[in-house]
Amino acid sequence: MQLNGRIAVVTGGASGIGRATAQTLAQAGARVFVGDIDEAGGEASAAAIRENGGQAEFVRLDVTDADSISAFRDACFGSAGQVDIVANVAGWGKIQPFLENTPEFWRKVVDLNLMGPVAVSHAFLGAMVERGAGGKIVIVASDAGRVGSLGETVYSGAKGGAIAFTKSLAREMARYSINVNCVCPGPTETPLLAAVPPKHQEAFIRATPMRRLAKPSEVADAILFFCSDRATFVTGQILSVSGGLCLAG
Ligand code: NAD
Repeated sequence: MQLNGRIAVVTGGASGIGRATAQTLAQAGARVFVGDIDEAGGEASAAAIRENGGQAEFVRLDVTDADSISAFRDACFGSAGQVDIVANVAGWGKIQPFLENTPEFWRKVVDLNLMGPVAVSHAFLGAMVERGAGGKIVIVASDAGRVGSLGETVYSGAKGGAIAFTKSLAREMARYSINVNCVCPGPTETPLLAAVPPKHQEAFIRATPMRRLAKPSEVADAILFFCSDRATFVTGQILSVSGGLCLAG
């Protein structure tokens, strides 16, 4: 699964699954633009890739801010001239009973997990279609968006929206040979999960047939597959990487 000569954008690339995705795509030969609101983490991700002989640059990105997305897109095209792959990994959630959620909380969860991928994909797709060379969009949702998750009700709704968005965008982009697919991690060893109370983490592991958490690199491998020439006829698909947690048909 080689990506030599391809230009890839990874949102949320400063940490966790996004950082692992940036590393994995760079190891496969892509030149990677790491986008994140966390400047120190994003710079560190890009520097680590370069130290390993890969090509990566950090550009600040807030996926909830239209001006920031435009500036990020312009920086990527200005520097590389083209973009072949957009991996939408940035996201956020917190376990909290629905009745304790505030409207500000809903908005943050939906803006990040649903509207972020919508706005970032929209920003890049115009030029990708115009260029006529195909491309790959990957959206990271969650098994919560497939089967629900106690205490992650609005997050599940936003991720479910991202899953449905993937399917319809795949239909619209098929004529341009742009594949649009979705990876759904189960509980994964990242800073996001570290913020979850231990008793919830233990419950996640008990609910997982393979009885462990995912490693970020295992999720990144699924993203690499969708970005590669091994998945040229695969579009609109939802792939869980969760040790059997979600066995949806
Ligand atoms: P993480 O917190 O380690 O990384 C998320 C990254 O997104 C961070 O670098 C953060 O700075 C960045 N980010 C947050 N808000 C942003 C914004 N407005 N603009 C740009 N970047 C922003 O989390 P993770 O666990 O690696 O999560 C990655 C994705 O995987 C998310 O979409 C998350 O919902 C999903 N996911 C994670 C798990 C899990 O258990 N870790 C499970 C299912 C789905």
